[in-house]
Amino acid sequence: MKALWGSFMETIGQNILQVKSNMEKALERAGRRQDSAVLIAVSKTKPISMLMEAYGQGIRDFGENRVQELVEKYEQLPKDIRWHMIGHLQRNKVKDLVGKTVLIHSVDSYRLAGEISKEAVRKDTDVDILIEVNVAQEESKFGVCVEEACALVEAVAALPKVHIKGLMTIAPNTKIPEENRKYFRRLRQLSVDIARKNIDNVSMYVLSMGMTNDYTVALEEGAGYVRVGTGIFGTRSQHDR
Ligand SMILES: *Cc1c(COP(=O)(O)O)cnc(C)c1O
Repeated sequence: MKALWGSFMETIGQNILQVKSNMEKALERAGRRQDSAVLIAVSKTKPISMLMEAYGQGIRDFGENRVQELVEKYEQLPKDIRWHMIGHLQRNKVKDLVGKTVLIHSVDSYRLAGEISKEAVRKDTDVDILIEVNVAQEESKFGVCVEEACALVEAVAALPKVHIKGLMTIAPNTKIPEENRKYFRRLRQLSVDIARKNIDNVSMYVLSMGMTNDYTVALEEGAGYVRVGTGIFGTRSQHDR
């Protein structure tokens, strides 16, 4: 047992070093500053002990895709952690979440944004969000389509206490990361197009894109946040998460 424990601790540490080194090289290839991208450790389904190991290695940004799990971990872990909600969010869960995240990546409807706004006003807190775009038009994925993204941004921008900081996408699951480059490029182009409109209360500074299989390609295409789960914590038991 002790040996096993020791080995996963070593592995998480080594994985983080490896991911960071890959990130550095990708940023360099792209001619980007080293501080222009942040690694989010996606810790869904993983126990507190593993998150603490990553914390010990300097990780402060963690991503979760379920409200209840995020809230439980939020309550148990150090308060300097920046929690990212990256999964599909139901309106009836919004009240539990607001006030606990640094960023909600997965806003894809006006109704959801409205609920977040209502709760933010009630708690007198500001909530930063990203608009999730289904760039690859996969049936199975959430997110607004590219054509409707700008209209959604304009509508959400008028809501009190929510602030759009950029866009997020989940690219298709592929073994060949290069195949996803076009989707990352498309999201970046969309963010440039929206930024040109100079909409009040909207910044297009952040692109959240890239996961274990394709984060280096995403960084070459301008990702500000990469969301890496398996590459840090190992495989998950549930296929759907
Ligand atoms: C699970 C998840 C990730 C991390 O996926 P890995 O392939 O394990 O790196 C990233 N983003 C979202 C939205 C996720 O749900």
